[in-house]
Amino acid sequence: MSKQLFAIFGNPVSHSKSPLMHNLAFSGLKYNACYGRYLLKEGEKLRETFFALGLKGINITVPHKEYAYQACDHLDPFAKKVGAVNTIVKKEGKLYGYNTDAPGFLKAISEFKEVLTVLFLGAGGTARSTSAILRDEGYRVTILNRSEGRLESFAKEGFETATFEGFKAKPFDLVINMTSAGLEDDSLPAPKNILEIVLPEAKACVDVIYGKETPFLKLAKSYGKPTKDGSDMLLYQGIIAFEYFTDHRYTFDEIKGFMRQAFTL
Ligand code: NDP
Repeated sequence: MSKQLFAIFGNPVSHSKSPLMHNLAFSGLKYNACYGRYLLKEGEKLRETFFALGLKGINITVPHKEYAYQACDHLDPFAKKVGAVNTIVKKEGKLYGYNTDAPGFLKAISEFKEVLTVLFLGAGGTARSTSAILRDEGYRVTILNRSEGRLESFAKEGFETATFEGFKAKPFDLVINMTSAGLEDDSLPAPKNILEIVLPEAKACVDVIYGKETPFLKLAKSYGKPTKDGSDMLLYQGIIAFEYFTDHRYTFDEIKGFMRQAFTL
């Protein structure tokens, strides 16, 4: 087999851990491939760039997941349902699109048992795909967002939704920060008076941001709650993408054994 080329497309893309994760797994499993990064400025050019670079597959990060959806010839049913693609594989000249963020997230939270009700703080693209998979799995998801606009489509799909002003606090088993609050600043994803009601009642709290302890996770810990950041979500979405890249030749745990090293190097 000649060497296969993979990449992550995004803007920005320099911070991405995906090249390290995938290259560790390719070399560990002795799979003849390498994985780079590509700063894609114009999402409309995703498809032509993919072919021009001679790639076998890509991951797509912010802000191009919807362009990636449009660029595919075939869509996995879940990716089609949520309208966002973060993994593309070329097979016989056609592009096949998948969403691995949501199953990665689902696996990451599966360690928290006896969870039925979930409060999402945030209503962006990540909340869209992960809320859909949680609902398919039987969780009851409520979406709380600082502004009204993004809530409309969630409400249309039957989710319970609220803005901070209209929120009537009640207990939730799991509270999850789905926003970018705390990523590059010290802000909380919701007003403190709301968090001071919901966090003490939660069984656990999760943040999708990884690699740092956000103010949200700090506050959750101050109530003695089990917490988890977004590292496992990132790792698991990468493993599931790798399964597609390599046509399911390796088991999840075989890939994990190598890919997880990206978080300790
Ligand atoms: P989007 O830009 O699509 O959505 C952002 C959401 O955050 C909106 O609901 C927005 O509210 C809200 N928000 C932003 N800043 C604040 C703030 N200061 N206070 C309250 N709400 C705020 O983002 P994504 O869904 O693409 O990404 C969300 C997070 O998920 C990011 O931090 C990203 O890094 C992380 N992520 C992690 C992954 C992982 O593997 N661990 C994978 C993918 C994403 P409004 O509608 O009012 O603007």
